Amino acid sequence: MILKREHFDAKQAQLYDVIVAGGGAGGLSAAVYLARYNLKVLVVEKGRGRSFWMQDLWNYVPRVVSGKELIEGGKEMALHYGADWLNGFVEAVTDTGEEFQVRVKYRFKNSDYPVFRAKYLIAATGLIDVLPQLENMQNVYEYAGYNLHVCLICDGYEMTNRRAALIAGSEKAINTAFVLNWFTPYITVLTLGVYPVGDEMRAKLADHGYPLIEKPIARFSGKDHVMDGIEFTDGTAIGVDTGLISMGSIRHDDYLKNLDLLTDGGDIVTEYDCRTSHPRIFALGDLKKGLNQVSIAVADGTLAATAIWKEIRRASAPRKWTAPLQEAAARAEESARPEIGLGAPRGG
Ligand SMILES: Cc1cc2nc3c(=O)[nH]c(=O)nc-3n(C[C@H](O)[C@H](O)[C@H](O)COP(=O)(O)OP(=O)(O)OC[C@H]3O[C@@H](n4cnc5c(N)ncnc54)[C@H](O)[C@@H]3O)c2cc1C
Repeated sequence: MILKREHFDAKQAQLYDVIVAGGGAGGLSAAVYLARYNLKVLVVEKGRGRSFWMQDLWNYVPRVVSGKELIEGGKEMALHYGADWLNGFVEAVTDTGEEFQVRVKYRFKNSDYPVFRAKYLIAATGLIDVLPQLENMQNVYEYAGYNLHVCLICDGYEMTNRRAALIAGSEKAINTAFVLNWFTPYITVLTLGVYPVGDEMRAKLADHGYPLIEKPIARFSGKDHVMDGIEFTDGTAIGVDTGLISMGSIRHDDYLKNLDLLTDGGDIVTEYDCRTSHPRIFALGDLKKGLNQVSIAVADGTLAATAIWKEIRRASAPRKWTAPLQEAAARAEESARPEIGLGAPRGG
């Protein structure tokens, strides 16, 4: 069910098996499995996460859908099988040793801060890509996620042999050009003029024939979500067919900060089944170390949910079918009862 204010008292009183922070690709996969394992699960989703911005989902079998369709379908399925859902923002998590207390901000105005409790926590809050900050951000949103891409693995194919602008957020990020050139050699590198480029990198770009433009972008041009050019603040412009933003990302992990999970370069380190260095916290998808793809996040949800189910199942008393057991006990009692009045036939 979708939780509203009127449900908070009852739901805060109960202990969930699992709270899933984040209802994107990974969190939804985990929620569906958990609900179908007949476990009590709550998904908390703030809205407009990374998968929401995915206009086309590629490299995912069986068919191409948008991120919104993926989220809507997954949410419908999780609710159908009995998961609870809360539109809210996970602010803080406290580990009492026995359970997690998850504080959620509900509604931006007139907010409530309910605290829900669970035995296990799944962190599936992903990250968000850094975009060029233009005066008119609507102009960026018009094309970002369409033919102005943020993910080379997802969309490199879409850029095959097209004129591509690589918007690199740092000198290190310029190296993406030498991976993007697997798909297209027609690359122009843009720095937005915010950092210096060393001689070595300049020479490497020149050697590959990739122009370097070091001035701020004024706006992207095009129409109907198809970018066809980039205009600069000095009034110059270039024509492009596509673009790739390589400016890094921001992890949605503030609520995990006091839990001291093992990380590597900021990514949460997990075992095969997505268990973190805390035995009752699992991390999925983009938040953890590994490839940032929907197929991985979905598989992570499967692994984490199944590992949690196994643990809870093994710790539970076996469910027995009592009727046959009672009947068998009654039969045993009957046959053990001494027969009265019918002794063995006497001889002679
Ligand atoms: C434009 C674009 C195109 C892409 N194209 C592809 C593609 O074609 N193929 C592909 O495989 N991958 C693609 N990706 C990558 C893909 O979106 C991610 O790898 C995938 O969504 C990761 O799943 P996740 O569950 O880890 O994170 P997400 O799907 O981002 O889910 C995390 C969820 O957590 C929520 N959240 C965050 N913080 C909080 C909080 N504190 N409280 C509550 N909720 C919170 C967010 O709103 C979000 O819904 C693309 C990404 C982008 C941005």
